Amino acid sequence: MNASGGTGSGLTPVPGATSAGAVLQLVRSGITTRSDLARHTGMARSTVSQRVDALIRMGLVVETGDGPSTGGRPPTRLAFNPDGGVVVAADFGATHCRLAIADRTGKLLVEHADELDIGIGPDIAVEWAMERVEKLMARVARPLAAIDGVGVGLPGPVEYAAGRVVNPPIMPGWDRVAVPPLFHAHLPNAAVLVDNDVNMMALGEYWHSWRDTVDDMLFVKIGTGIGCGIIARRGILHGAQGAAGDLGHVQIPDALDALCTCGNRGCVEAVAGGGAVSAALRAEGHDVHDARDVVALARAGDPGALNALRTSGRLLGEVLAGAVNFFNPSVIVVGGDLADGHEQLIAGVREFVYRRSTALATRNLHIVHSRLGADAGVVGCAVTAIEAVLSADAVDARLARSEATRGATA
Ligand SMILES: [Zn+2]
Repeated sequence: MNASGGTGSGLTPVPGATSAGAVLQLVRSGITTRSDLARHTGMARSTVSQRVDALIRMGLVVETGDGPSTGGRPPTRLAFNPDGGVVVAADFGATHCRLAIADRTGKLLVEHADELDIGIGPDIAVEWAMERVEKLMARVARPLAAIDGVGVGLPGPVEYAAGRVVNPPIMPGWDRVAVPPLFHAHLPNAAVLVDNDVNMMALGEYWHSWRDTVDDMLFVKIGTGIGCGIIARRGILHGAQGAAGDLGHVQIPDALDALCTCGNRGCVEAVAGGGAVSAALRAEGHDVHDARDVVALARAGDPGALNALRTSGRLLGEVLAGAVNFFNPSVIVVGGDLADGHEQLIAGVREFVYRRSTALATRNLHIVHSRLGADAGVVGCAVTAIEAVLSADAVDARLARSEATRGATA
């Protein structure tokens, strides 16, 4: 699947930008001639050419022949080169892992999904992933050295800047573990970025479907529990400690004193999450064990399951109505096993949000299903790695290192 969607990278051009890394962002955003780059940055043509030459040497930009003629000599078009390095996407869930190799546009070249219990701990989990990454790289006929970024999604709270897991409820052995060094042992030169799995899904969905039209978006994952990734001004909002978007543990009146897995009472997750809904249906005599069983039962037309999904959507809508008033997103994307392709749950969400949020906040609000489904997380992991590898700062730092090496060997 190609996750790159529409044209360019969706990045906003930076007027007055001067570094080679900044020029790369302009080329990725669709400015494709040296004269347009000069006009856009205010730099001299000769300076622009120096920057472009450096990007061509680094394999980040290629010349693609002649652009439209304006009377004189036709200008040579520039294009971002997607065929340089590749990135690894590693999306870990509680009981499974999806791995992929992606090119620099976010296109997934090869994928692997398998059962994996996250409880085996970080060392074995990373070894397990790297064994499979080596096989995937063999399938695309590239050496491990071609990997210049790794994006890792984990099913627990992550301190984003340090790539460190903090107090994860379902990840024994991972608490306080910094994940990047575990990957650096195999890939010393790769940038390694780690984030919560819901943030990765939010970014994947945003990149794939919404980045050309929307700046502010919420992605709600409703599986066993409930989580939320916040896209604010086109990027993930992590909050001060990386804990932003913990929607599942917001208290609602309709949860009464239902006991939540977090130890508190009244959390929306304790009544509307897949764990709570399947438990309630089991108590009524249904043979269901998780969110997927509930959806399967609803698809079979069981009135109890259909009603349970609608109610779950309404309860989730209670919290989201407040979030809409507070954050004013353009889009709410609902994903996760309990929302999987079924209209009842999302109808319940819409019913409550449109009734309870302010008219201005809901005037242009869309509430939609996830389009990427199970691929959202792995696409988000790839995008996170690509944006780190291709950021202006990262490109300028690589350029400075290679110039130093050229100077030393000259
Ligand atoms: Zn809770």
